[in-house]
Amino acid sequence: MSLRAFNDLFPDEDAARAWFERARWPNGPECYHCRVAGNAAFMPKTKFWHCKACKKQFSVTAGTPMGRTHLPLLTWAHAIYLIVASSKGISAAKLSEMLDVQYATAWHLGHRIRAMMAEANPILAGVVEIDEMYAGAPPRKRAKPSRDHDDTDPPANPQGRGTKRPLVLVAVQRDGDVVAKVIPTHSKAAIADALDGVLDPVATVMTDGLPAYKHIGKTQPHLAVNHSGREYARTDAATRQRVHVNRVESFNGFMRRAIIGVFHNVSVKHLGRYTGEATFRWNRKADACLTRMARLVANGEGRMLSYSFLTAKAA
Ligand SMILES: [Zn+2]
Repeated sequence: MSLRAFNDLFPDEDAARAWFERARWPNGPECYHCRVAGNAAFMPKTKFWHCKACKKQFSVTAGTPMGRTHLPLLTWAHAIYLIVASSKGISAAKLSEMLDVQYATAWHLGHRIRAMMAEANPILAGVVEIDEMYAGAPPRKRAKPSRDHDDTDPPANPQGRGTKRPLVLVAVQRDGDVVAKVIPTHSKAAIADALDGVLDPVATVMTDGLPAYKHIGKTQPHLAVNHSGREYARTDAATRQRVHVNRVESFNGFMRRAIIGVFHNVSVKHLGRYTGEATFRWNRKADACLTRMARLVANGEGRMLSYSFLTAKAA
């Protein structure tokens, strides 16, 4: 959707409110307090709805990450459009500049919009490629006197497996959707936990040769490529299937470019929302921009996200 088309659709605050109401309540306004739908009157002065069933008032943003917002709905529509229309996401600094709002406002706005992107995980079927991705910064290391250094020390910024960086397990249906979950460790149990309810029982799982993936073969058909043996694709002799993890690596590259390229680094506390954003972009790329915007608003139902929660120190 072009900027001009956006401006035609969202000429003013009333148009923006009407759009949010249609996106959230396709069957007419639903009371936030008593859940009765289609039995409320709009009060033009306060812009609230008056529920005829419970006599309470509610707004289109109540009970969503947009709840109690002080920003005009037109600013929200603009921010959602900018984020959804971009291919990799937009940093808080850029959003602040484009919307002419304070940095903290843009930062909070970005996280609340990201929270609305999170969707229920689809069930993956057919061929499902699984791999993990390290995201964000490793925990800060204590400075060490150089005389303590010897060749057995790990490098200052180790890469890949064995590092303590935040970890995401990614499963991609070869011809379809992706599911990405932040996991605490790369253990057998953590992987099994993350995959619970994600796979169709007859889906064929393809991974690299990491030992922790071997147990998948106990519950699912499982084929592996031996990356350490410099094997990147092979044809399985028994099933004649092409075994590789190119598609999941392509998603991981996409997510890495967004997280490192746009957001520079993300803490483990916010990582789930960034993986949710990357997943939403990947799974919804065939949808038109306005469809994605409406889906995001519908997703916000029942999800609140306060600034104090976002900025509280992780326990
Ligand atoms: Zn009511």
